[in-house]
Amino acid sequence: MKTRLNWVLLGSSAAGCADRLPRIPALAKVAVTPPPRADTMRITCPTCKAKAVITSRENKTDTVADLYCMCTNAKECGHTFVYTLGYSHTLNPPRASTLDLAARLINTLTPIERQQLLDLH
Ligand SMILES: [Zn+2]
Repeated sequence: MKTRLNWVLLGSSAAGCADRLPRIPALAKVAVTPPPRADTMRITCPTCKAKAVITSRENKTDTVADLYCMCTNAKECGHTFVYTLGYSHTLNPPRASTLDLAARLINTLTPIERQQLLDLH
């Protein structure tokens, strides 16, 4: 995570003769660490391993896209290339799917089996 120095306004302070001069806001340079972005994806150049940036995206399907990338090491590399981004598999099903699945399973049970299920908890 990179820390940047940002100018921030600290408020007003009197400079010189306070009666005649306008109040001047005080500035200070402070370290600011931006929060991590959830949508950040790191791409590295397959040639020189430097950071690369995504310049455009072409969606092939709802779950597959080509990412057009450019190496930031322009002086020594300058490689442009395409990565394919694709959905792989589910780790946890969406909540709606889980509830739907549970409801379908419960609906297949007889009234006695439903009562037995309730008695388990
Ligand atoms: Zn490169």
